[in-house]
Amino acid sequence: MISLETIEQARERIVKHIRSTPLVMSAALSELIGTQVSLKLEHHQLTGSFKLRGATNAILQLSQSERNRGIIAASTGNHGRALSYAAQAMGSRATICMSRLVPENKVSEIRRLGASVRIVGSSQDDAQEEVDRLVAEEGLSMIPPFDHPRIIAGQGTLGLEIVQAMPQVAAVLVPLSGGGLAAGVAAAVKAVRPEIKVIGITMERGAAMKASIDAGHPVQVEEHRSFADSLGGGIGLANAWTFQMCKILLDEVVLVDESEIAAGIRHAYEYERQIVEGAGAVGIAALLSEKLAHVEGPIAAILSGGNIDMALHRNVVNGLNTIGEGS
Ligand SMILES: *Cc1c(COP(=O)(O)O)cnc(C)c1O
Repeated sequence: MISLETIEQARERIVKHIRSTPLVMSAALSELIGTQVSLKLEHHQLTGSFKLRGATNAILQLSQSERNRGIIAASTGNHGRALSYAAQAMGSRATICMSRLVPENKVSEIRRLGASVRIVGSSQDDAQEEVDRLVAEEGLSMIPPFDHPRIIAGQGTLGLEIVQAMPQVAAVLVPLSGGGLAAGVAAAVKAVRPEIKVIGITMERGAAMKASIDAGHPVQVEEHRSFADSLGGGIGLANAWTFQMCKILLDEVVLVDESEIAAGIRHAYEYERQIVEGAGAVGIAALLSEKLAHVEGPIAAILSGGNIDMALHRNVVNGLNTIGEGS
């Protein structure tokens, strides 16, 4: 378990380097659901997602010589962006390894954030092998995306901000993939007020944490394309932290399908004036679907990220409800 004190220390450590994001009441959702619903606008975080919190907390705890040697990861998504930005801001240097199949816009985005990019092989596994080699041969520090106490504590700072801004909150809706965000937020809010319900929301297409909790141990699930691309990937068969924490701390895990996620993205845009990515819209999606009708408010939903391709966003706003395997 990760203590409230550890999360409070993380908050002190990172507070100058991140944005404390607003929590705003949603008139539209409150009226629809019949209880106060507030949205934590974490897609306004620097780099466009909460991943900056954990990445910053982890980098700030490296020794000076580790920071000088640099950090490394194989993520081209929000974790890779956050690491690239945080490393540059803290005088370190990130190396991001990726396969040659990664699209050029992602490569240039990571470069723009100051990381050096290494293109190796033709799969994520090849990129990970290069990471392992550079860790062993050059002493770079690998920073994992979710399964690490410093990452979990960093993400938990979001939970502290929610209970401070909304002391009467009764339920928190957390987008769930590897579980770093959910474990950290649940540890934080339940340490302050154990009766607060924390509900993980994830996509039907590849719900690895849900399947693992049901099985009683980490399992792999088949992955498909989804609007919530940031929720893709497994929890790791050797999961050391987030599986146990999510199993114990989450009151419930709710699944949403693709058309529900699309409706969440549309609602965020049309009624809240917010541009969120699929992963960031799953809380709204679950509320709109009425799968949370039994949950008592006041409710806070975390909008975890905003990094969506704008052409895709336009298509969703115009009514696109499914994302094909090949499209
Ligand atoms: C990574 C990510 C998540 C899921 O976080 P986990 O800690 O892996 O559960 C949710 N939303 C966005 C936008 C993300 O980037």
